[in-house]
Amino acid sequence: MMGMKKASSMATGSRRVTVLRSGKVVNAFDPWGNPLCTCPPKYSLNPYTGCSHFCLYCYATSYIGRRPSTPKKRYKERLLYDIAHVINPAFHIDISTSSDPYPPEEKEYGLTRWTLEQLLPRGFKVLIITKGALVERDAELLAGGNAAVTMTITTMDTWLASKLEPGAPTPRQRIRALEKLNTYGVPIGIRLDPILPLINDSRESVKEVLEAAYSAGARFVVTSTYKAKPDNFRRIIEAFPELEKKYRELYKIKGERLYGYRYLPVEVRKRILLLVREEATRLGMEYATCREGFAQLHTAPSCDGSHLIPIRIKPTSNHGSQSLDKYLELDR
Ligand code: SF4
Repeated sequence: MMGMKKASSMATGSRRVTVLRSGKVVNAFDPWGNPLCTCPPKYSLNPYTGCSHFCLYCYATSYIGRRPSTPKKRYKERLLYDIAHVINPAFHIDISTSSDPYPPEEKEYGLTRWTLEQLLPRGFKVLIITKGALVERDAELLAGGNAAVTMTITTMDTWLASKLEPGAPTPRQRIRALEKLNTYGVPIGIRLDPILPLINDSRESVKEVLEAAYSAGARFVVTSTYKAKPDNFRRIIEAFPELEKKYRELYKIKGERLYGYRYLPVEVRKRILLLVREEATRLGMEYATCREGFAQLHTAPSCDGSHLIPIRIKPTSNHGSQSLDKYLELDR
């Protein structure tokens, strides 16, 4: 295919790594060499930069700062270029990994909806990762394409959620969005991610989230424990000053530094992850963890939920062979 480099494989030690090409806005997903990441090769696409959900624990703020969701410059033109020249439809596209595709601003800009209108009819595979209940607006569109949705829900406690995720919809609104997606036939899962010790790690809290998600139709959960970066650690301590001493002990003294993050001690992580596994198994939900080093506990075929993506539309064969002008013309 002209202008499009196929994914290639190369051996690194005993592991085969698939190398994808990055485009202008669609990037090859890069866990920055973190061997704890068990994600399949895929793309990542962020229509917005920054995130108006302002989660205290956000990891992205350590490299892009803390600012509201802003449309990427020349986004449409750049995505159309990538559609025509870069994206290999064999691999799915995460929307989004370092921002949220359904912040309040999406109501005004509609960039995520426009993105789906470009990608889905052409047979690209999409995995939505969001806290935005606005995703329900696009239920019909998502149901017609190769798309699945994972909704992040860390607690069903409205007060706690408003403290942890002050700009995001309430947990109940997210559950209602999942119910609507499920009604339309969109495959759904949840991210119980992150779990913060002494904040949302009780069995009652985990049960409440999983049972609400299960009732909404979700049959997959991926979970992980909170990993500290200096800026998100500061925000957590400011919001929960009574936990400062315990958090310093858990993360700075007893915890370990792994791939740029401070992790909880391994036995604490294992206790939390097993607790979620027990509750997920009790309900009959598939289970996975994210960057924990406990892949042996997984019961789901993928850790990111990409196995939920159905193939409803075969990719058209002309990606990479049509000129950008033609796509731009189509979308005028
Ligand atoms: S929704 Fe995701 S990207 Fe947005 S602030 Fe929360 S953790 Fe960060």
